[in-house]
Amino acid sequence: MEVIRTVESWKKMRSSFPASKSIGYVATMGNLHSGHESLFLRSKRENEISIASLFINPTQFNERIDYEKYPRTEEDDFEILKRAKVDYVLIPLREEIYHDEYSFKVHTTHPVSQVMEGVFRPGHFDGMLTVVLKLLMLVRPKNAYFGEKDYQQLLLIREMAQAYFLDVNIIGCETIREQSGLALSSRNNLLTKDAKLSAEKVNKALRSRTSLNEIKDSLVRCGFEVEYVERFMERIFVAVKIGNVRLIDNVVDKSEL
Ligand code: AMP
Repeated sequence: MEVIRTVESWKKMRSSFPASKSIGYVATMGNLHSGHESLFLRSKRENEISIASLFINPTQFNERIDYEKYPRTEEDDFEILKRAKVDYVLIPLREEIYHDEYSFKVHTTHPVSQVMEGVFRPGHFDGMLTVVLKLLMLVRPKNAYFGEKDYQQLLLIREMAQAYFLDVNIIGCETIREQSGLALSSRNNLLTKDAKLSAEKVNKALRSRTSLNEIKDSLVRCGFEVEYVERFMERIFVAVKIGNVRLIDNVVDKSEL
């Protein structure tokens, strides 16, 4: 596994790859877990060269403190990346990615960006899409893998790739969960023991096949501040806060099947 930290050295490396090789790519913010690992493994299975990036993107955070406190666990991340046999890990500096000081950005008004996360996290999707566009331009993969855990993100990246004629397949990957149903997330590490027990009820509530209001009420009873419970594109989506930790999840809506 080769670790590359500058754009210049990455560009040199990238230009040495034969055009015939298929390149798979997974963008992450680090603090890796088995959810990320499932993306690396799929990329490895489906491509000749697998690339991952670790980059905590400042422009997609709503609160500066969340950006500053985002767990930085590079050594542990390397273990997971090596285990998944990722070939190249790109860890670019913020100053290099944002050498333009975020003076160029992707701004979306796509309908998918106007609901749920788009309402509760103003500017988040613009920051996320901007960094994903920059990273896709640098990596130039054939296949790029994103988790269904962040379903709106996945849909918007797919739409952006089409809008800008990017020559990349945007591939959605199933959410990896703990046995309790709790979706794996870097934010789970921030939960207290009690909050973790409550968090395990989020997915159960989503799967309960009751009305959106009943789901919402049961989450409030568990002690959550509920931002939204919504049905959208045949899925049910939820965002809740417990203490300072914000959790999201979504499942296929089985109520009408
Ligand atoms: P992040 O590091 O949180 O930006 O996530 C990097 C990628 O991993 C995104 O495409 C996420 O949707 C995906 N991901 C995060 N958690 C999971 C999970 N539990 N299962 C599958 N994919 C995930």
